[in-house]
Amino acid sequence: MSSAIDRLRRSFLGEKEADCAALVVSPENRFYLTGFPSSAGAVLVTAKNAYFLTDFRYAEAARRVVTGSEVVCIKRMNDTLRELMEKDGVRRVFVEYEKVSLRQAHDFEQAFSKAGVAVETGPSLDAALEALRTIKTPEEIQKLREAQKITDDAFTHILDYIRPGRTEREVALELEFFMRRQGAEGVSFEFIVVSGKNGSLCHGVPSDKVIEDGDFVTMDTGALLHGYHADMTRTVAVGHVSDEQRHAYDLVLKAQLAAIDFIRPGVVCGDVDKVARDILEAEYKGAFEHSLGHGVGVEIHEWPRFAAGSTTIAQPGMVVSVEPGIYLEGKFGLRIEDLIVVTEDGCEDITKSRKDLIIL
Ligand code: ZN
Ligand code: ZN
Repeated sequence: MSSAIDRLRRSFLGEKEADCAALVVSPENRFYLTGFPSSAGAVLVTAKNAYFLTDFRYAEAARRVVTGSEVVCIKRMNDTLRELMEKDGVRRVFVEYEKVSLRQAHDFEQAFSKAGVAVETGPSLDAALEALRTIKTPEEIQKLREAQKITDDAFTHILDYIRPGRTEREVALELEFFMRRQGAEGVSFEFIVVSGKNGSLCHGVPSDKVIEDGDFVTMDTGALLHGYHADMTRTVAVGHVSDEQRHAYDLVLKAQLAAIDFIRPGVVCGDVDKVARDILEAEYKGAFEHSLGHGVGVEIHEWPRFAAGSTTIAQPGMVVSVEPGIYLEGKFGLRIEDLIVVTEDGCEDITKSRKDLIIL
């Protein structure tokens, strides 16, 4: 398997003149290209060479990890970049569009013009990186599987912990503690644990609310491992459920299973959203207002999206969440979220936690 830098050189620089280069500065894309997390630095990819520029805080550690590019310890980054571009005969450098500030773009232009290097600030480099990151390699998928495994194990663990009298915050903390004990580097995002009437807050923050008999408890969690983000939601009931809760749960599960069954290479991502949305809207109009799913990887929200109007075509290697929900203000809410990998002939659900209605 070629390195991410090789793939970027081929897909982005391959069709350009030999005097073009790509300059990547955003933390997530630097990590994608080098496999090394750092808070500062840049990756310069020229036709012949690749350089990972970082400062003394990271240089030694980076040399132990980074293989696809030369680690260069910097004092003044733009001076070093200019020297490297002069050495490699670069005349045009493409920089990221969304993640570079106006200040940084201005500084690049000032610094590089001295060497006769033009700075190209259009969206083309972003598009190339996005296209690469959207299709995961087998190695990336394996990292996501391992992150999801810890997340699944945490769900199994928490079933014994949840009971009336525990608070949402206690459940969230226990989930995080368990994942870190299993080797997670961190959490994919601030966990959502909401119960009872709080359940309609689809992105609610865990509170001191005590879990009570008859509550749904919705937990949206994920472990961060090897720099990759897992993401899963499960909703469980405590004590007993009403007929309406059971009905809503069955409908959300039906919508999710129908969407997963529909996903295969060639389908339009917006249509995946529609499959689930039509099922939910038929009975609960206006109760599902967010998108069905999002890509995950080195960021928790990336491409593609299972969202209304998305014209992206599903392709093997995409890893996307499928997360329908119903949110009824003043009553309850629920969501069920799995991660799927688009395969050659369909998709594989890499979330293994059970999703029949569990009543604790
Ligand atoms: Zn989630
Ligand atoms: Zn999600």
